[in-house]
Amino acid sequence: MDRFTKPFIRQEPIPEAAIDAAVAVLRSGALHRYGADPSQAALLEEEFAALTGAPHALAVASGGYAMGCALRALGVGPGDPVLTNGWTLAPVPGAIAAVGARPVLVEVTEDLVIDLDDLAAKADRATVLMLSHMRGHIVDMGRLMEICDRHGIAVVEDCAHTMGAHWDGTPSGRFGRIGCYSTQTYKHVNSGEGGLIVTDDADLAARMILLSGSYMLYARHGTAPDDAVFARHRGQMPNVSGRMDELRAAILRPQLADLPRQVDRWNALYRVLEDGFRNRPGLRVIDRPAAEGFVGSSIQAIAADPARVPVFTAACAARGVEWKWFGAPAAQGFTSAHRHWEYVASQSLPRSDAVLAGLLDMRVPLTFDADDCALIARIVGEEAHRHLA
Ligand SMILES: *Cc1c(COP(=O)(O)O)cnc(C)c1O
Repeated sequence: MDRFTKPFIRQEPIPEAAIDAAVAVLRSGALHRYGADPSQAALLEEEFAALTGAPHALAVASGGYAMGCALRALGVGPGDPVLTNGWTLAPVPGAIAAVGARPVLVEVTEDLVIDLDDLAAKADRATVLMLSHMRGHIVDMGRLMEICDRHGIAVVEDCAHTMGAHWDGTPSGRFGRIGCYSTQTYKHVNSGEGGLIVTDDADLAARMILLSGSYMLYARHGTAPDDAVFARHRGQMPNVSGRMDELRAAILRPQLADLPRQVDRWNALYRVLEDGFRNRPGLRVIDRPAAEGFVGSSIQAIAADPARVPVFTAACAARGVEWKWFGAPAAQGFTSAHRHWEYVASQSLPRSDAVLAGLLDMRVPLTFDADDCALIARIVGEEAHRHLA
């Protein structure tokens, strides 16, 4: 039996242009954004704003920081309820908990997007929605915004898995009041840790820049609003340091320029896996809506019989193919489910639990090529016939 031998967590090297830029920053000694002229962080903000079509962008220390900063800027505080996806990763409820707020979990559908009927049913429970585009699945954003606008809900988008993606031509992160992105190693650009925020709203931009730890140096940001806007918020916002440094900004700029090409590469690999997983016994792939311009940096499949998952995933693993399972009894690695977040009040999500029980998840690193994905697909198909049929 053939075996797959490449690791699922190996990233591509940082591009040479980014390495050169990093070395130049190191040689200058100016690693802090306010000590550098020109500032790589400020240039990154200008470039990310241009890429997403947002008037304001802010570079920060992590995606989790970006989400917490967004919530704080919107005035979310201790005890406030915040709607969010019942299926996402731990930094999302974590960011809500970080400001002392309470996650109100919304069900996930069988197509792995937030359940809009459940959202509408819970819409009067909170004034903010932290919408996680979990694993790159984008919900019908027209319908979602219509529900949220009708109920006066401010939307923050968690785009950790959708940098470079769009819904019906509008970039992910540009529907809500604030869009948050991660530049952590396992996302779409890699600075080890890091985050980016975009918004249309000058007041929110000023509040988030002040929050991120700008002291009185906020005018040095790449896309800062006018002084008059800062005058409304100066002194009101605590300095919760979470700035991005020059080194990370320097290595992100060339990667951002390369993002469209990377997206094409991811999607080509995704299509090979998707074709291979489709029509296998006991396994369902997620049909992607035509309006969704996704980034296939991971792929999901749902096993019809969750009881058979452990044997199936063990058989795949024995041949070098790694699945993560959201139905596992205990949280493992990066994978956890809402019942593992003990700091969140336990909530009944029967529809989500039924989906998560069989939900399998696979990362697609760009160190794989089309032949690798064809081999993975063959192994998954054979083991599905053996163990899921
Ligand atoms: C990675 C991730 C984040 C933020 O991550 P950081 O590691 O803090 O940059 C947010 N949401 C989701 C769904 C993620 O996977």
